[in-house]
Amino acid sequence: MQTCYTTKSTTRYFLVLFAFCLFFQNSSAQSDSEKVSAEELHDWAHYLASDEMKGRQNGSPEMKEAARFIAENFKSSGLKPLPGMDSFFQPYTFKSRRSGELKEQNVLAYLEGSDPDLKNEYIIFSAHFDHVGIGRIVDGDSIYNGANDNAAGTTTMMGLARSWKRSGIRPKRSVIFAAFSGEEMGMHGSRHFFENCPVSSDNIFMNLNFEMTGHCTKLGKQRYYITGPSYTNFDELLDEYNIETKWKRDATVEGADGLLFASDNVVFAVDRSEDEMKLNIPAHTLCTHGGEDHIHRPHDEPGFMNYDNMADLVNYLAKLGIFLSEMDDDVIKWDHKAFAKAMKNRRR
Ligand SMILES: [Zn+2]
Repeated sequence: MQTCYTTKSTTRYFLVLFAFCLFFQNSSAQSDSEKVSAEELHDWAHYLASDEMKGRQNGSPEMKEAARFIAENFKSSGLKPLPGMDSFFQPYTFKSRRSGELKEQNVLAYLEGSDPDLKNEYIIFSAHFDHVGIGRIVDGDSIYNGANDNAAGTTTMMGLARSWKRSGIRPKRSVIFAAFSGEEMGMHGSRHFFENCPVSSDNIFMNLNFEMTGHCTKLGKQRYYITGPSYTNFDELLDEYNIETKWKRDATVEGADGLLFASDNVVFAVDRSEDEMKLNIPAHTLCTHGGEDHIHRPHDEPGFMNYDNMADLVNYLAKLGIFLSEMDDDVIKWDHKAFAKAMKNRRR
């Protein structure tokens, strides 16, 4: 069961903000010609998850090509390199047990916020774009395309940037779009980003990470879940926001709390610098996966994904992103007590 940690005054503030945002949503609704189409998302995901990309193995030439493709896409959406960086690429090396030292890079892009004060704070929308490469042959196929994991999340993130470019609507806080490599081998890209953060990590308002947003056969259309719902009030804020939207958060996904640790968001969410794990920056993964059976298998192919649902999600996120970009600083709160208790039980 969820517990509400919002204080009365923040609740009142939130409701006023909420009413304002509903007004804003209606007055700034995108016309159909401005929306990012299912066909565009289809083409981007088919490129990233094509057989030619050989499963986007970290350190491979295909990963370089994928990074180039993402950077070009960011550029076409009018995004810029991060302040202090002269390109979209953030190179790094990491050691892998199997392959030794590998060279990789994150692809980072920046959209300056429209508010003179809030633009000094950052929302990070992220998705990993690496996958596991070529592996054991299953039914004659050895290429692990990684369409849903995670060409889908990467495409969703690129769609969000493109959507804002088309509508001309700008978030108030600045936004960093981060395509991370190295996730499948231990979240090396996101960790490198966080430890060498081009902006002060104190100014990161939150991270929303996208994973496996390509299928909707199990949860149904216009449904998603977030990871770590029991440790936060973000789930409740979303549910309140969603009263007026067709998209709803599914609160029934089993193991959603543990999945807080399963993707790049954990690098922002959990501070492991001392003996005890502590919660840090609000950071969750948004996912539409409901247990479809293609994860880390060769049949995670782009042809099986639902691009109408993904386009609809991008449209929803374009409005949600604006809402998050102007929310009061203290509204999203971790529930440190619930987290500490869960960690204790985990160790038992
Ligand atoms: Zn993934």
